[in-house]
Amino acid sequence: MTDNPFRVLIIGAGTGGAALAHGLRRAGFDVAVYERDRTREAGLHGYRVGIGPDGSRALRQLLPPELYETFKATCARPPRSFVMLTERLRTSLELPLRPAVEDESGERSVSRMTLRQVLFTGMDDVIRFGKTFTHYERRPDGRVTAHFADGTQDTGDLLVAADGAGSRVRAQYLPHARVEDAGIVSIAAKLPLTEETRALLPPHVRDGIGLVLGPRGGTCILHTMEFPWDREGRVKDGVGGNDAGLLARWPGLLFDNTRDYINWGFWASTDKFPADVMRRDGKELIDLVLAMTPRWHPGLRRLFALGDPTTCFPITIRTSVPVPQWPTTNITLLGDAIHTMTPGQGVGANTALRDAALLTRNLTAHREGRLGLHDAIRDYETRMIRYGFDAVRASKKQTGGDQPIHKPYIGRVALAGMRASFFLASRVPSVRQRMADALHAQRGGDRDD
Ligand SMILES: Cc1cc2nc3c(=O)[nH]c(=O)nc-3n(C[C@H](O)[C@H](O)[C@H](O)COP(=O)(O)OP(=O)(O)OC[C@H]3O[C@@H](n4cnc5c(N)ncnc54)[C@H](O)[C@@H]3O)c2cc1C
Repeated sequence: MTDNPFRVLIIGAGTGGAALAHGLRRAGFDVAVYERDRTREAGLHGYRVGIGPDGSRALRQLLPPELYETFKATCARPPRSFVMLTERLRTSLELPLRPAVEDESGERSVSRMTLRQVLFTGMDDVIRFGKTFTHYERRPDGRVTAHFADGTQDTGDLLVAADGAGSRVRAQYLPHARVEDAGIVSIAAKLPLTEETRALLPPHVRDGIGLVLGPRGGTCILHTMEFPWDREGRVKDGVGGNDAGLLARWPGLLFDNTRDYINWGFWASTDKFPADVMRRDGKELIDLVLAMTPRWHPGLRRLFALGDPTTCFPITIRTSVPVPQWPTTNITLLGDAIHTMTPGQGVGANTALRDAALLTRNLTAHREGRLGLHDAIRDYETRMIRYGFDAVRASKKQTGGDQPIHKPYIGRVALAGMRASFFLASRVPSVRQRMADALHAQRGGDRDD
């Protein structure tokens, strides 16, 4: 172990950057995180994020033990199954999911805002808000100085880009590493979970994750998020003593405005949307989804119509173009800053967390004298590039605008083929089990790093 204060600058306090900061601080590093959002409650960071085994294992490694318990206590009820549906709300296939109860082997559902509040807990002296990174420069002594839009700067031994898909660090450091449009537009909204909205979904869809595959590549994901606290933020009856105690002590609940909700996301290839879709407001977007789904089940259309317009927003889905490994220096990247992926597999945040855990382990090995700095970063980048870009490619294959399901005629054949394979799997238990195992493996269920 060396006594040198090794200073790490992290740009971006998203999922990956904030988790890395916890891990490095626990390992004894001098860490500063610079985040452009002005406050810890700012920013619309989307709604639900699914945390699988990769993400849970990383969080267990990185967070202080009590905060990891708080993360578990603040998750919504875990989804029981992954349900493929037709646009008429008929079940094509239901794959069981392994819910995470105590350990890291299963699935968790968390609200992005809640996860963000968990990751900000206890980090007041580490995360600086209202700091927009503009550029960096290398100093003659090899250290790196980061510059911010307010004219301030900071210097560290290592600069980590955790500033998401539009990373300014990446633009300067690896200008050839591009992010491209995946040819998909998604519109998402949420609505409160009430007696009326609860009744619009069949129980097995409400208890799981619903994926509706409709004609012309129109796809909709449905999540029902039920938390251990009520609309006033009071811990609900029946929440176990340990979780209730953790929630009562957790300062993050003061900043978290998440209450039970249903979240839907509708997407299709970009050519199916009007050219001005990104400029439409929430009400116009909901009307657009209704206009694009005239023959969908009335219950689904009612869920669309009940979407709260103030929560409804469009996104153009982007994806990184994989690049070969670059020469290692004391600047590195993690998460969406280097491997943005379409939400096809729902593993972007999990992969960012996996990066943060691996980088923390390697830098700790350096700090303890087991690995040179260059080797620690080189090994991190070699592995991160491999699994990160693998996930980019696999996600694009699942949710890319160039996939057959979005094509004019062949799309119908592709949809019929998919439904036939679901039909077969739903009737042959061994095939269904293989599909469920593949889903689990894709989310890190078979790894132990
Ligand atoms: C619709 C949708 C659904 C998804 N669902 C899932 C899911 O279920 N499971 C899953 O694993 N993944 C999911 N993802 C992917 C996941 O959201 C991302 O992969 C993940 O948030 C990436 O984390 P990150 O820390 O790399 O970047 P981000 O979370 O994007 O964080 C980047 C941070 O950097 C800050 N920043 C940006 N620029 C600057 C700057 N110049 N200066 C300072 N700060 C800056 C931003 O404000 C932000 O806080 C989904 C994505 C989408 C679009």
